[in-house]
Parts: sequence; structure tokens; C-alpha cells
Amino acid sequence: MSPLRFEVVAECPVTGARAGLLHTPHGVVETPVFMPVGTQASVKGLTQRDLAGELDVRILLANTYHLFLRPGHEVIRRLGGLHRFMNWPRALLTDSGGYQVFSLDSLRRVTDDGVLFRSHLNGDEHLFTPESTVDIQLAFGSDILMALDECLPYPVSHDAARQSMHRTIHWAHAAFDHYRRQIARSADQPIGALFPIVQGSMFPDLRRQCASALVELDAPGYAVGGLSVGEPRALSLEMVELTLPLLPRRRPRYVMGVGMPEELPEYVARGADMMDCVLPSRNARNGCLFTSRGRLVIKQARYRDDPAPVDEACSCYTCRNYSRAYLRHLFQAGEMLFSTLATLHNLTHYLDIMRRLRQAIIFGSFPDSLRLVRPAPGEVD
Ligand SMILES: [Zn+2]
Repeated sequence: MSPLRFEVVAECPVTGARAGLLHTPHGVVETPVFMPVGTQASVKGLTQRDLAGELDVRILLANTYHLFLRPGHEVIRRLGGLHRFMNWPRALLTDSGGYQVFSLDSLRRVTDDGVLFRSHLNGDEHLFTPESTVDIQLAFGSDILMALDECLPYPVSHDAARQSMHRTIHWAHAAFDHYRRQIARSADQPIGALFPIVQGSMFPDLRRQCASALVELDAPGYAVGGLSVGEPRALSLEMVELTLPLLPRRRPRYVMGVGMPEELPEYVARGADMMDCVLPSRNARNGCLFTSRGRLVIKQARYRDDPAPVDEACSCYTCRNYSRAYLRHLFQAGEMLFSTLATLHNLTHYLDIMRRLRQAIIFGSFPDSLRLVRPAPGEVD
């Protein structure tokens, strides 16, 4: 019996969009959902009070690679698991660590057994295997665990992508075998749900092959990975569009690492239930604010005397209380408060988009409102 239960409450008859409820041991998550990224068990600049209160975030993502290296999963286990360690009572998803190993230039060697990598902190060598990354995430006590996958850069040859895809399938089976043995051993202790990740680079035949092999695992949810690695947006959308219909309809589908605000409705229209991306928080710290009228670059001189909020249409704490002029001043002065206020705003913007999309699906107006809710790309005019 999976600790995770997914309920589809409404489906758009025209597109593939659906609204659902994801029941986790740490609360119910309304989907489609955007998950803020708390890389090191912290969303940079925000307190857990901001996340649960002002933002009403129901599920956060944390990174296995970073937490494994520092402070270490055994430390987190001894301190009662990741929820207690970081004081986050709601749902947590941890990634498998694969993406960081393959993208942080720390990679040493990939074999069928796992991946040997070097810590970016002190150069120490470590081995991630499908089994060890399950154990690390079990030590965290994550509500959703991700199976180890190989994440390739873009572009790669069909041959390289095929070999890598087979390795990801092999690792997913190894991860599930191990995970199921751990469940049997854990008796009454509830343990998180494990999701495998569909890979296959930008090749439709490989994506299809990978999806159908992973469906055999009868997993409680599925992810599509290997996107946002430098490919054109149209290609990422195409891969999602052809992969999601191959996954079980009654299981949550997680599209990893996407995207820009204007892309969120596009993924939802293709049947994505869960998404994550560092963009809203990272861009906030760099002074790029997402608004209903496009991107606003706060350092521009035109905002020096501007008493207006970042976005008139936004009801976040930042927009309710502070002017563009003040935010620009904080940014120019290098004040920490800038990051906090900007991150609050950008995450609110993302979460608002998801709430509006969900409502439209439930009210049956998704195709019409898809046009209206599409945020403006480009900069504020
Ligand atoms: Zn705002």
C-alpha cells in the first residue's frame, strides 16, 4: 500500500490538463502544483513561517546531493528526519541527486552499478547507487523519493542517449527492488513513495521506450527528467507531450526542472501535475521579478522614484507593502531584505498562476482561460 494517494478531481475535456489532490503523510497537496526548491533544506531568503504562512506552500523540494554531502543523511536521521530538522511539517520531495552529479562537473565515472563523483565542497569521492540513494532519502524521511537516473546534457547522439536510457531503466528497477525490500522490513513504519524518472534525451522513440519500461514498475507516480538542459523550449514541450499520455492516468506526473512563468500553463495543458524550478527564487535574488505584465528588472533607473508596487495585480506581502523604488534601493545597497521580499513576490506569482490554472480546470474553462492566464513574456513596457 503506497503512502501516497492521488485523486483526479477534474479533467479538461479539450487539453490533457487535470486538477487533483495528492494525499501525503504530511498533508494534502492541490495539483497542478509548483514546488519551490529548498536546495539545502532552505528556500534561500525565506523562513519556513513565510513558506507555510504567507505563501501557503504545501510541498517543498530538497536536494539529496547537497544534503548528503552536508550535513549528511545520518545527521539528519539522528535529528528526527528532514521534516523535523528543518521544521517543515508539510510534504517534502527529494530528488535522487543524479541531476547535480551530472551537472555540477563533479562526475568521475558512470557504470551500471552507479555513479562515482567528487564532492564540490572538498573533493572527496563518493558513489551513488540506485540502492544508496533510496537509503539516503529514507533517512531523510521524504514523502516522495526519486529513483537515481542518468541525466544527459544536450545535445547527445541517439546511440549515447539509448545506452543511457537503458541504464536509467536498469537503475530504476534496482531502486524499486531495494525499496520494496526496505518496505517489507520496515513493518508498520510509514515510508515515502518512490517515483522513477523517464529519460531518453530529445528522441521520441527513446522516451516512449523508457516510459513503457517504467510503467511495468507500477510506481505510485512518475517523473519526466532530462529537460531544461539547454534544448529549445519547443523540444521540451514536445517530449512532455508525447511522454505524459504513456504514463498511468491515475498517478501523479511530475515534470522536473521547468520552467518560466509563461511555460507553466503549457505543461499543465499537457497533463503535468507537479513541477519545480529554481527560476523564481534564483531570479528574485538577481533582481528579476516576474509580473502579470512581464519581467521587471529592478535595477533599472526608471524605478528610482517609482512609488508603485512591483505588480498591481499581485497581493503578496511585498506588493502590499513596498514600492519599486524601495526595492530598487535595497537591491542597489545589497541588503538581504531585498532577496526575501523579491523571493516572496516571485514565488507568489508562480503559486498564483498554478491556483488560477487549477480553478479553470475545475470550472471547465481551462481552454478559454489558457489564453488569458498566459503571463506576458518579455519585459514590462
Ligand atoms: Zn507581489
